[in-house]
Amino acid sequence: MFLFLPACANRGSENNPVFRTQDGLLGTVINVSVYENVKEQVLTDMVARVRDIDAMMASRSALSDLSALNNSSGEAFTPPRALYDVIAAGLDWSARSNGAFDITIGPLVTLWDIGGTPKVPDQDRVDAAKALVDYKKVEMDPQGPSVRLQPGTRIDLGGIAKGYACDEAAAMLRDAGVGHAILDFGGNIYTIGAKPSGALWKIAIKTPVIGEQGYIGLLQVSDAAVVTSGPYERYFEQDGALFHHILDPDTGYPAQSGLLSVTIVCDSAMQADALSTACFVMGAEKGLGFLSGIEGAEAVFVLDDFSVRVTKGLTGCFQLLDERFDLYEADFT
Ligand code: AMP
Ligand code: MG
Repeated sequence: MFLFLPACANRGSENNPVFRTQDGLLGTVINVSVYENVKEQVLTDMVARVRDIDAMMASRSALSDLSALNNSSGEAFTPPRALYDVIAAGLDWSARSNGAFDITIGPLVTLWDIGGTPKVPDQDRVDAAKALVDYKKVEMDPQGPSVRLQPGTRIDLGGIAKGYACDEAAAMLRDAGVGHAILDFGGNIYTIGAKPSGALWKIAIKTPVIGEQGYIGLLQVSDAAVVTSGPYERYFEQDGALFHHILDPDTGYPAQSGLLSVTIVCDSAMQADALSTACFVMGAEKGLGFLSGIEGAEAVFVLDDFSVRVTKGLTGCFQLLDERFDLYEADFT
């Protein structure tokens, strides 16, 4: 259920937004805090839009438009425009990341079933699912919103849809004149403007160590998306080993890239969502090289040797809180 919690002050103070909403959507908890008077209808419409996106893009729901597309492989399918647009953006990031991010990861996501009742699959099943993963098997009709999947191809938008929904919700608030708000869609954060006081928002980044609750650092931003990917979000253990939900299309197994987490800062949550997943698969060195070619994207990489690499554009904005880690300015290669 979505809750509108009206706060007492008119404009909202640092700790008291005018409205705070919370719901379980997109497979996660979403929180929106608005520090401005807006018509309740704006918030109702925003929630309805997020619900629509969920209904379109959830691969776990048999009723979603995405599932209908996945079940129509081999034939041309006309999805709703928003789904077409997110698939198009997802394919673009799949190609630009050279397949480290790949929206046709669906067969591997289903096989590993990380959000359900997971267990390590047999190697031959991993190989069979991996062979189906290839973004080049998605054909987009540039004239209209039509998509054709080659047989066996299944799209999963878990790595990008939350970011898209976050951008859409933020755009609706901005269009309604909101100048101060913060949206958190399961770790996909978008800040509108600065705090009502004019100070920057402080975004806490979770310590990406499984079993721990603290924060590794703070990022100070305004008008920016801050999106983090890491194994600690969803995983299971078997025979003492850990298996998580960010899969490497090259191996068919959870990515083992020497990273604990990647946080991306840029002006689009959808882009940050795709980039954080892509960079997690690539690892620090490749990921930093990849990001150096992307205008306006900054990052915090947390490595499993407990070093933290922060790109130049963020060095003044990131504050390390956890003394077990060492902070370095990242070298773009
Ligand atoms: P994120 O939490 O944004 O890093 O996305 C992880 C989610 O994206 C997973 O739960 C899967 O649904 C999906 N996913 C996993 N591996 C990949 C990948 N290599 N490329 C694209 N999506 C992926
Ligand atoms: Mg992502």
